Amino acid sequence: MLSMIGNTPVVNESNVFLKLEYFNPTGSHKDRTAYYMLKSAYEKELRNGGTVIEYTSGNTGISVAWASKMLGLKSIILVPEGTSVMKVKLIKLFGGEIVRVPPDVDGHEYAEKLATETGGIFLQQRKNKANYLAHYETTGPEILRQVKDFDVFVMGAGTGGTVYGVGKYLKEKRNMRIVMLMPKGSYAQEYLTGKKIEEKDREIMEGFTYHSLSKHIERAISEKIVDEIKWVSSEESIAGMKKLWTLGIPGGPTSGANYYYARRYQKSGLKVVTLVPDQISRYPHLLEELII
Ligand code: PMP
Repeated sequence: MLSMIGNTPVVNESNVFLKLEYFNPTGSHKDRTAYYMLKSAYEKELRNGGTVIEYTSGNTGISVAWASKMLGLKSIILVPEGTSVMKVKLIKLFGGEIVRVPPDVDGHEYAEKLATETGGIFLQQRKNKANYLAHYETTGPEILRQVKDFDVFVMGAGTGGTVYGVGKYLKEKRNMRIVMLMPKGSYAQEYLTGKKIEEKDREIMEGFTYHSLSKHIERAISEKIVDEIKWVSSEESIAGMKKLWTLGIPGGPTSGANYYYARRYQKSGLKVVTLVPDQISRYPHLLEELII
């Protein structure tokens, strides 16, 4: 099953090339990251029966639990209070042990403490090189093989591993234009623009970074991999999702945001590549709100 990661299909919708990452075994691009992080830990210090630990509310938890099972490792996934029931169930399904982190506890410190106690390895996707390398060595080269002619790559940033890894590869090979999306009204926007945002204008987009900037995002900016940053609203993400569904592509919120901005560039005559990271079925609350 591990060899089924990657080589996901690309569909061309009027010069927006959508790479369907939900074709990965657990349904998101994070299978690539999880496998790369585990492989690098395994080569260095982990052995069969060892324990890996990750702090995440997202798809990474599902992918780490799954890939750990495939490699005979034990996984402990720390999730913030309020993580979607669906994600928690999927992590358990793949044998991951769930540890809930109360709102007043620092999840990062908690994970470090657990790593010491269990002798396990805390993966830390926000600064683990294997995260961006997964995309530098697999997603990026696949895109160049699959799409012969394009101008722009659009991708929203969570850990930033995808936009940095793919962006770095594309810049080195063909000097493409790289556009990074981040949530409008986020602390990250405040930090990068230096403009104060009122509480009422804050928007949370599951999957994209909200608070601080990860190592990968910092590097993507300082190394000039990213040419433009766009601040994406929930409204735009929903509009993008709805458009995707009419094409028969059941993308989740970040797919909607990616597609919304990809279309903007396409309308100005450019050919655009973007990712569809996961599916709407992972977000039952949105299904109820937007469809049923
Ligand atoms: N879309 C979805 C659905 C995600 O779960 C994530 C990761 N949180 C992203 C996009 C962003 O990917 P990355 O962490 O590589 O920036």
